[in-house]
Amino acid sequence: MVKRMIIKIDEKKCTGCGKCVAPCAEGAIEIINGKAKVISEELCDGMGFCIGVCPEGAISIEERHTVEFDREKAEAQPKKRDISIQCFSCGAGEDISYLLPIRHNMQSLWVCTRCLPKLIHG
Ligand code: SF4
Repeated sequence: MVKRMIIKIDEKKCTGCGKCVAPCAEGAIEIINGKAKVISEELCDGMGFCIGVCPEGAISIEERHTVEFDREKAEAQPKKRDISIQCFSCGAGEDISYLLPIRHNMQSLWVCTRCLPKLIHG
């Protein structure tokens, strides 16, 4: 056991929408019985990429005692594709663009690197 950063999912807030599943590159999150769950804590690296994509604010990160992150096991996890992940501005998907999660007007959105400068500079 080690003390490290790891995500925490508030089941009361989670609607089971699944938006956090594909963005987790480590394949640590799945929807089980209608709620997001960390299927194995050794798969969560604690980077928190999933936090920004949750529209309900159900995911947070905390420091606690848990198992060590297993990079090899995480890299071996099947990668999940979600075709709904696309740039809100131009519609580009992750197959043709780099996408970043952003928050705007209480919404969790994705933006591609081509459209991001327009957001920053107007
Ligand atoms: S994105 Fe948030 S609300 Fe949706 S399944 Fe994941 S934790 Fe639940």
